[in-house]
Amino acid sequence: MARIAFIGLGNMGGPMAANLVKAGEKLVAFDLVDASRNQAKSDGAEIADTATAAAKGAEVIVTMLPAGRHVLAVWNEVVPVMAKGALIIDCSTIDVESAKQAHALAERHGMASVDAPVSGGTGGAKAATLTFMCGGDEKSFAAAKPVLERMGKRIVHCGGAGAGQAAKICNNMILGISMIAVSEAFALAEKLGLSHQALFEVASTSSGQCWSLTSYCPVPGPVPTSPANNDYKPGFASALMVKDLTLAQDAAKAAGAATPLGKHAQEIYRAFDADGHGGVDFSGIIQHVRELAGKS
Ligand code: NAD
Repeated sequence: MARIAFIGLGNMGGPMAANLVKAGEKLVAFDLVDASRNQAKSDGAEIADTATAAAKGAEVIVTMLPAGRHVLAVWNEVVPVMAKGALIIDCSTIDVESAKQAHALAERHGMASVDAPVSGGTGGAKAATLTFMCGGDEKSFAAAKPVLERMGKRIVHCGGAGAGQAAKICNNMILGISMIAVSEAFALAEKLGLSHQALFEVASTSSGQCWSLTSYCPVPGPVPTSPANNDYKPGFASALMVKDLTLAQDAAKAAGAATPLGKHAQEIYRAFDADGHGGVDFSGIIQHVRELAGKS
């Protein structure tokens, strides 16, 4: 049983930390927010007063924070107090460049490091069924895998430093684009007098099949568990989709890749967000698509 420190106990980090405790790990946790610390305490974690205090003496540290600047700030604080040979894992979704800088910092201090962003949302975090996409050397990945298995079902080694973040933003660019495509198809079907169920039955078993349609259908009815049946409560908020599509665009620019549909998807989600819908599930983009009909 390793001593594990967990920093960032929000919507994702809170239940992930709770699963480490449930699996019998000795966990020391920290978050800036009182309510999150109290929740972690009632889930069975020991609470530290600072990130540095949590990290002292830990063999493994996990961070789950909003963006690259938070991750670099916390890693700069904790890495110098950790023992040589300790392991640091970042599960946040951040830009590839910050992830690489974080790995370099850990390497300078003789620590193993893995970027391991997740897919599966808050439901997957609670149920310990997340997919982890990992970047780092073989040795670091081998050390991180048993820890990540406490919180997830699929642990994929994608390559060297930053490769996990690269996989995550490529995946979410597909997701953003495909959700808009499925929404456009339903909006067109409505205008053509075709029922939601008829389109679903055909497209879900034909060449239009995709996750945005079959697991996360943006109209109520065909997939009873999708947020469309729950007034588009997230789920995965549109503001987070804007964040991920922006990370994809930044990476595409830096790498010289052409992603015209990714760029358009970013613009569409940004407009939805600017209209005050950042807190709406990203499948709610169908409402925005329907409204565009009156404008074009
Ligand atoms: P969140 O905002 O709920 O949680 C982030 C937590 O980090 C907060 O509790 C905040 O207080 C804490 N924090 C920020 N700076 C800190 C610091 N310096 N020290 C200690 N704690 C600090 O966000 P979330 O939904 O848990 O998402 C976390 C990450 O996971 C993000 O990068 C997000 O993009 C990614 N992600 C989220 C989802 C989702 O469905 N929510 C799905 C996949 C990936």
